[in-house]
Amino acid sequence: MCSTLKITDVIVRDIRFPTSKDNIGTDAVHIDCDYSATYVSILTEDQNLNGFGLTFTIGKGNDLCCKSVEYFKSFIINRTIDEIEKNILSLWYQITDHSQLRWVGPHKGVVHLATAAFFNAIWDIISKYHHKPLWKYILDLHPEELINKLSFSYIDDVISADDALNIIEEKKKNLPNNLDELDSTLFPAYTTAAGWLGYSDEKMKILVNESLKKGWSHFKMKVGQDIERDIHRCNLIRDIIGNEKKLMVDSNQIWSVQESIDYINELKKFNILFYEEPTSTDDILGFRKIKDAHPDVNLATGEMIQNKIIFKQFIQNKSLDFCQIDSCRLASLNEIIPVLLISSKFDIPVVPHAGGVGLCEYVQHINIVNKFLCTNNNFFLCEYADSCWEHFENPSQIINGCYVTPLQSGYSVKIKDTSLNKFDFNTGEYWN
Ligand SMILES: [Mg+2]
Repeated sequence: MCSTLKITDVIVRDIRFPTSKDNIGTDAVHIDCDYSATYVSILTEDQNLNGFGLTFTIGKGNDLCCKSVEYFKSFIINRTIDEIEKNILSLWYQITDHSQLRWVGPHKGVVHLATAAFFNAIWDIISKYHHKPLWKYILDLHPEELINKLSFSYIDDVISADDALNIIEEKKKNLPNNLDELDSTLFPAYTTAAGWLGYSDEKMKILVNESLKKGWSHFKMKVGQDIERDIHRCNLIRDIIGNEKKLMVDSNQIWSVQESIDYINELKKFNILFYEEPTSTDDILGFRKIKDAHPDVNLATGEMIQNKIIFKQFIQNKSLDFCQIDSCRLASLNEIIPVLLISSKFDIPVVPHAGGVGLCEYVQHINIVNKFLCTNNNFFLCEYADSCWEHFENPSQIINGCYVTPLQSGYSVKIKDTSLNKFDFNTGEYWN
């Protein structure tokens, strides 16, 4: 391996897929999603070794993320991959605590989404450089080496680097000697793709029936625009899937705390596994009030929790029951793995957010890292929605409602050139 291999350029593209045409992704607050990616390519002196990373947005604003990534480029151009791998944490701090950019964050919003795209591309190139799928690269790292790549800033009152090291070292004792044995691991998933809010009853029935035939056992449905319609749709889906299969609902933050308490009361009879994002994603105490009003229900949240500090508070305050990290909202693995470790410490199951563009491709790696390196909880589940998979060179694979372990080296989000060229918002033929 050539230790002097240098980064020569970083290219950012604003890619938008016109998914709003088909009502894909519609929920109580997002009614016209054009699934989009801030798509970062890291080029090196070796034309066969490039890194690709993205963050997920839903249309307008994707250009803002692209612009933010432009500010990060100079931090890696002309540096070697070895150097970046060794110093990834100080690089992460240089960007997340940038003395000027932090004013438009810090650790949240557009710059943080952009940071995710940038570091997702960096983790991709590093794992490709070692010829390993990302999950395997992480599992192969010596525990101390891994800890030195993770940020514990502002969370070390709850989990220190030493605590984290202990968790990982304990988990490592139970890893198979030969990690190739994990290649055939299947990871349980649930589908969101049948229950978008913009779908008619007929369309939802057809999709739920199709999903049952494909082996799905866990279904999530969007709710929140009208409680009578929510009840009608819950009835409809329970009629098809029966009482044994699992049903979850997601209202995407539309309810107030009191509305959440009232509407959960109405929906309880449908035996809901969890209520996702009932109210504002920032309302740690509000979530707790809902839980206190309904000690018998589970709350899930995380896809819009902006950073590890808010996760720390949600988990420590017992305001959530399922931790739904997002691979593109937290600033990549440097921040995600510490959240997995806090969840492990408090024995909270992690059920990653997925769907969109590339999220399924990302979480398939994170699930394995969590299962084999972080959690001792025995509840395993991850979201899946079959949106935009056709644009990826190696899309995630599902068998019988489970993710199949990815085996190609890297972090799995290389988009096909034909899709990039067609759907580039600035130059693509679709938009121009
Ligand atoms: Mg959701």
